[in-house]
Amino acid sequence: MRQLSPSCRRALLAGTLVAALVAPAAVRSRASQDVSSPAPGRWFKGNTHTHTVNSDGDSTPDEVVRWYREHGYNFLVLSDHNYLTPTSGLNAVHGAPDKFIVIPGEEITMMVSTKPVHVNGVAIASYVAPPSSPDDVVGAIQWAVDGVRRMGGVPHVNHPNFGWAVSVEQLARVERLSLFEIYNGHPQVNNVGGGGIPGLEEMWDGLLTGGRLLYGVAVDDAHHFKRPGDPTASGPGRGWVYVRAQALEPRMISEALDRGDFYASTGVELADYTADEKHIALNVRTTAWSRYRVQFIGPEGRLLAEKTDADASYTFTGSEGYVRVKVIESNGLMAWTQPVVVGASGPKQSKQ
Ligand SMILES: [Zn+2]
Ligand SMILES: [Zn+2]
Repeated sequence: MRQLSPSCRRALLAGTLVAALVAPAAVRSRASQDVSSPAPGRWFKGNTHTHTVNSDGDSTPDEVVRWYREHGYNFLVLSDHNYLTPTSGLNAVHGAPDKFIVIPGEEITMMVSTKPVHVNGVAIASYVAPPSSPDDVVGAIQWAVDGVRRMGGVPHVNHPNFGWAVSVEQLARVERLSLFEIYNGHPQVNNVGGGGIPGLEEMWDGLLTGGRLLYGVAVDDAHHFKRPGDPTASGPGRGWVYVRAQALEPRMISEALDRGDFYASTGVELADYTADEKHIALNVRTTAWSRYRVQFIGPEGRLLAEKTDADASYTFTGSEGYVRVKVIESNGLMAWTQPVVVGASGPKQSKQ
């Protein structure tokens, strides 16, 4: 078996949100490559894409933050369109050490001809202005990605199929990007594709198969907190991430996202997750009447194996390129772990 890339030599043990975890063997991060023995991390639940009345949301920042804090989240990124909602007052009221924080963010919102191109900045130090008249999709995304990086934040490309704005080929050309949305809770973003255009998960496999390593986030993109039960509303609580970080602190959360130490979910939680040179193993936190399919997926979205036990594992042959896990709950809830690169032919991060 070929040597795994450093980013894949990490061993993760996901668990309850408060459990201390075993340190991974090695972790590669953008800030410091090849850290040999990082401190143990904990898992924190959070949403990285939310709106308030400071853009087109229907609720004040205080109301929005309160919803997430009261529904078991550990962090929330406020991401108003082209507006940096201040967070210090919100943290003074709602923040609690090790329990809950609000992280500053912004959705850099651009129109390229008729295409809505949106990029989130997570944990940015200050406002990132959109370009005045972007003339191509890749250039607009790159502008936003670089602006977010300059402000010390971590970018993710949002809802590529909203307005059918961003293709696999365009995403593959963006540099200094590690994240994009593979699930967005807004009802008009075309997550599953159609009319010959791939869904977001197919796009993900297309990117990975083409050699581009990107990690997938699930988000709410919540706008409406006052329309419960309305299927046309973009309400909260639909998609989120569990992030492994050493502490509940904005930079630690954003850097963990950047290096892929997280999984995405629409309702499935993992009791543990391990990935090392030889295999992936996980344990699904089951609920009483649900049943599960645990799918190990490789290049071109190929199903390498499917297990039906809550305890599931997959041993690499060494030639897969990459392997990722999708857990499907019998009512349609999902979890997606991040791709593990297997062998030298696997996907790679973009130019930094
Ligand atoms: Zn958007
Ligand atoms: Zn949005």
